[in-house]
Amino acid sequence: MGEPKTTKCLVVGAGPVGALAALYAARRGWDVEIYELRGDLRDASTTPLNFTKSINLALAERGVNAMRHSGSSDLLDRVVSESIPMYGRMIHGADSSGALTEESQQYDVHGRFNRAVDRANLNKLMLDKVDLLPNVKLHFNHKLVGADLRKRKAWFERKASPPQTADGAQAHQDQTDERSQEVEVDFDLMLGCDGAHSNVRYHLMKFVRMNYEQTYIDTLWCEFTIPPGSSASSKTPTAKDGFATSADHLHIWPADDGMFIAIPSVDKSFTCTLFAPSAIFATLEQDPAAVTDFFRTNFPGAADLIGHAELREQFEQNPHLPLISIKCSPHHYGSSGVILGDAAHAMVPFYGQGMNAGLEDVRVLFQHLDAHPATPAGRTAALDSYSTERVPDAHTINDLALANYWEMHSGVRSPLTLIRKRVEEFLNDKLPSTGFATQYARVSFSNQRYSEVVETVAKQGRILLGGLIGTVVLPLDAAILVLSGNGARQLDGATCAWFTPGDEVNGYYAALVVKDGSKDEAKVRYPLVTKTTC
Ligand code: FAD
Repeated sequence: MGEPKTTKCLVVGAGPVGALAALYAARRGWDVEIYELRGDLRDASTTPLNFTKSINLALAERGVNAMRHSGSSDLLDRVVSESIPMYGRMIHGADSSGALTEESQQYDVHGRFNRAVDRANLNKLMLDKVDLLPNVKLHFNHKLVGADLRKRKAWFERKASPPQTADGAQAHQDQTDERSQEVEVDFDLMLGCDGAHSNVRYHLMKFVRMNYEQTYIDTLWCEFTIPPGSSASSKTPTAKDGFATSADHLHIWPADDGMFIAIPSVDKSFTCTLFAPSAIFATLEQDPAAVTDFFRTNFPGAADLIGHAELREQFEQNPHLPLISIKCSPHHYGSSGVILGDAAHAMVPFYGQGMNAGLEDVRVLFQHLDAHPATPAGRTAALDSYSTERVPDAHTINDLALANYWEMHSGVRSPLTLIRKRVEEFLNDKLPSTGFATQYARVSFSNQRYSEVVETVAKQGRILLGGLIGTVVLPLDAAILVLSGNGARQLDGATCAWFTPGDEVNGYYAALVVKDGSKDEAKVRYPLVTKTTC
């Protein structure tokens, strides 16, 4: 049976994922209605200041690719033109004499990069595109309060706009001014893009036997800002072009208990985030004067970039927020509802993939819809196959994001992690036929399914573990040593163990051992042992 009429698609939530989903749905010729809890974030007069103030995000290939296929010709061009390429991590610290250090770690052997984007700006650019489409209607200040996925009806609480004063300015909206009204809307398909605390997911659960798991990690985050170089009280040696430190990097101040990161913005400031255990936040909340000392001890140089008075002020004024990780399965019900983005898989931000994965959801969902007939039965099959494909991928990136917390605050300082990266990158660069690539490159610079990334990386580990590189391609490992600049010395026969086997760090185990080959050339072996557990 064909669709009786044009499919009516409700998109709940006009964040980045909802806005992109609306573009995809409109391109299919559907009648699209977007319902968003808050006011239009493009309208500064109706949007609370703390909402327009935005976090900076790392936009990676998956997010870019999803926009590339949105059918909106210049969306990606606009987003790219208002972004800053970040080619690697800059690790900040201090040496034994207390002198500040900066160490650049390139993300990728081929020079591929992530883009720093302003989340609110990205969202605005998408909404501007949505606004141009005749088959999309935007409803702001509408909160989803109920949904019957069987009867295909949804209920929204509409908040009245604040009354205007005579000169057109908004009057202060207090509790008594706030009138709301319930609106009932029919739909064929509801796309739940309403974030981590999704109401669509809550209502979906009443209709489908959904497995659901929610975890808060014992880490809070708080936002800070490093002003442009001209107004910063200090600069680092890599500062240039009006930035207080290098704009080509995502900056990390790793510490044993937490980390501080900074991402460049087009206005030459940096949006920064402190991640630390809740107990540390509690201690600093009781004694905010200690914030500067805490930064001085744990994140050398960062307080000087922000300014000491500003550091304390920002710690006190900006919210201290939790980090939630959500897994659920399935993501859909019949032909009438599916959840996307954080609604389906909110994750901790340590792989910089939350939004990227959400945008990828949209591309993958519409790929499944395109592969099935445009009928309710076809849509049921499409949502079913989408959930079957996407749930394991969502669970995988959720786990990788959690594991990457260690990588960001300890792994970036671990020689074992760095040597493993170097070897995998070498193989990828000089011997592409081996198909080797780092997990980071596969996650951030490819569109390979997350679950396949993990399988492939584990396979790489097994190959290395089995010594195949050393035995099957013996000349290759000699070449590794030569080309990495150490070969001549080792091939001379000097005994040299770069790392001791058995050095295990948080599930990663990497050892590159060079044995004395001077006595018997035939026995020269450079076993390369890598074990991954994630
Ligand atoms: P949201 O952005 O949460 O949007 C949901 C929308 O739904 C909102 O507009 C909300 O108002 C609306 N809504 C909610 N409830 C209702 C309702 N009942 N009715 C109607 N509307 C409703 N991701 C990356 O890819 N890269 C990064 O570098 C990165 N860094 C991050 C750093 C931090 C500190 C954090 C916290 C997150 C980071 N993320 C990052 C994750 C990213 O912010 C989210 O994954 C992304 O914003 C999810 O988009 P979304 O559209 O699914 O949800």
